[in-house]
Amino acid sequence: MSVHRPTPELPAHLEALYARFPFDRSFEDDPISEVRPLARDRRRAEVAGVFASTLAIGNTTAIRGSIARLAALADGDVARLVDPAWAKERRRRLRDFRHRWIRGDQLDFLAGALAEYYRDEATLETAFVQGLDRGGFAAGLDALATVLRGGPAGAGRPARPRGYLALFPSPLEPGHSAAKRLTLFVRWMVRERFPDLGVWRQVPAGELRVPLDQHVHWIAYHLGLTGRRSRSWGAVEEVSEALRRIDPLDPVRFDFVLCHTGISGDCPKQRDLSVCGPCSVRPDCRLWHGRRSFP
Ligand code: SF4
Repeated sequence: MSVHRPTPELPAHLEALYARFPFDRSFEDDPISEVRPLARDRRRAEVAGVFASTLAIGNTTAIRGSIARLAALADGDVARLVDPAWAKERRRRLRDFRHRWIRGDQLDFLAGALAEYYRDEATLETAFVQGLDRGGFAAGLDALATVLRGGPAGAGRPARPRGYLALFPSPLEPGHSAAKRLTLFVRWMVRERFPDLGVWRQVPAGELRVPLDQHVHWIAYHLGLTGRRSRSWGAVEEVSEALRRIDPLDPVRFDFVLCHTGISGDCPKQRDLSVCGPCSVRPDCRLWHGRRSFP
């Protein structure tokens, strides 16, 4: 596979894509539009963010629907999910919940793991920052995954439900997962600018890594932001570093735009002049590489 290099003008082209992007249109379609109304304070932002990012599998309409159903099960107040006094009722209400292969018993266990953590700590930021200080961003995600996985059975804890651990992969483990959903959760918590929530104060936005879903990976690869064809943690680091060279203080601001360029159909993922014509990054796109004229 040949190495593809974008033009030196890529930063300006990405800025143009960002400047023209219809944020309002894509916000309505994004899971964060369901999270924001639930996030009335830091605790609720974290709880809504953990559950919503855990459910962020599949198409955005289904994800938004599942977040709304979960919020309705908690009578609109997601803090109830981590209230130990509500645990029995939570278990009953979640029993029949399904989103793709994610089951209600798994979400109930997740709520229990969070409730246990919040007994001793005010915010998940503490766990993330401890990991960050120990070994960088991937270690911060690993620390979050450890919290969300909960402890082993015993001492009053139920056994983890079948398939539960796979919901929270760590980039530090074999396979070096891109950990897209946890990385998305951290983006929501840290960035203050729209559309994110900005409830964490200790993590600089410049430290963020891009939540590498299939849409972001496709366009990042075709723009030469990474040469890796697989969505590994190595690809996350390469794309994030490339974006950090463009905006050191807020590299991940491009994530929403790149992601929804793919989701919305603004990028057909093939050479189609009727759609690619107005695309700001067409001169950098691998599919148009070598074409001297851009009609
Ligand atoms: S030129 Fe076309 S295929 Fe390439 S990134 Fe732009 S819209 Fe997508």
